[in-house]
Amino acid sequence: MDDLRKSICIGIPCYSTLPSYQTLEDYMRFAYYLGRRYEEYDFFLAIRGKKEQFRARNSIVEEALRAGCDYIFMLDDDQIIDIDKSMLASSRYLFLKKLIGHMDADPGMGIVGALYYQKGDTECWPVVMQKNSTGGYFFISHPEIAGGMQRADAVGGGAMLIRASVFDKIGSPWFEPELDLGTDIQICKKVEEAGFTVWCDTSIEIGHTRSDREVVTSKTIKALKRSYADAPGYENSELCTICKGDCCKSMPACAMPIDFLPVTASGLAEKLKTGKWAVDWLDADTMDEPSDSTVNKAYFIRPAVRGADALCDTSKQGECVFLGADRCELEFSDRPSGCKHLEPKDGGCLARGGTVRDAAMAWAPYRGVIEEAINAAS
Ligand code: SF4
Ligand code: SF4
Repeated sequence: MDDLRKSICIGIPCYSTLPSYQTLEDYMRFAYYLGRRYEEYDFFLAIRGKKEQFRARNSIVEEALRAGCDYIFMLDDDQIIDIDKSMLASSRYLFLKKLIGHMDADPGMGIVGALYYQKGDTECWPVVMQKNSTGGYFFISHPEIAGGMQRADAVGGGAMLIRASVFDKIGSPWFEPELDLGTDIQICKKVEEAGFTVWCDTSIEIGHTRSDREVVTSKTIKALKRSYADAPGYENSELCTICKGDCCKSMPACAMPIDFLPVTASGLAEKLKTGKWAVDWLDADTMDEPSDSTVNKAYFIRPAVRGADALCDTSKQGECVFLGADRCELEFSDRPSGCKHLEPKDGGCLARGGTVRDAAMAWAPYRGVIEEAINAAS
């Protein structure tokens, strides 16, 4: 091997189920490009079965270091590079050259990722994370995507280039069980603590497959995102008439940002001033969340509890102010998302979305807006 040639290990942790046929076809085309259009580099392929993600990732790093690679590109088995599905020649497969170029140009850069979106069916956040004031990690919002190189505190492990020399400075095991933090946040945190920087090139977009037919990209998010506003929710007026709001008597359900569009500090302040709405926050301890979780001490909005005058109220227990004599005073379509997604059932209703955790995640990008609203309404 020519000593001046850079070598890159492509590491793919694989689930036991077969990936989408689109990914299989896409990665074969990527391999073709690596052979034909990346002639200045040497590549190694490390594929590891993934029962526990951290073991697969550690094993990929071990192989890469043993082979003397300069960089390790972690690629998950549910991504798609050619999101245009051109089936022809595509410059999208040259994205890795761009990432390598960033690394070559800045020796202080420890990790650089490409942009992709969460494949869950609600918010589809960009998988680019920043730390909040309490040290928890949260996804940046869609308008914060710069379309170029931007600093991040963590990037998604599904498309992440790591400088191999960072592993000289951080001790093994590099990746650990995902008890508190995902493996991507773990490694970005360690790399930053070792003095390297973490970046995302958000001009490079990779698709995230949800199924054979559904690939989440910036172009498909609108159609694939089942927002709380679009989802019909669950209504069973017969059962609810008999029950007369058992849940509503013990704790109001959560509202989501989609219930207050456009979300502005002045708009929220007006709602808070009515006394019908309150700011609550997720307390990681009581929710059995790790203390450095993304959503620790994350604000969200919910209907106020009858008799509780506090603007910020974490008492959680009590009757919702919107509960009338025998039913909710709000029309079904006007209820907070958490209420619409409570499925009435004999023997106990089921929360199908809009839970406290969902709300904390959804409101995380609006922390500053909520703080401003609290000040304005106090
Ligand atoms: S949603 Fe469930 S708890 Fe609420 S009123 Fe209907 S049946 Fe009762
Ligand atoms: S808004 Fe209506 S449905 Fe929701 S908790 Fe309050 S009373 Fe119940």
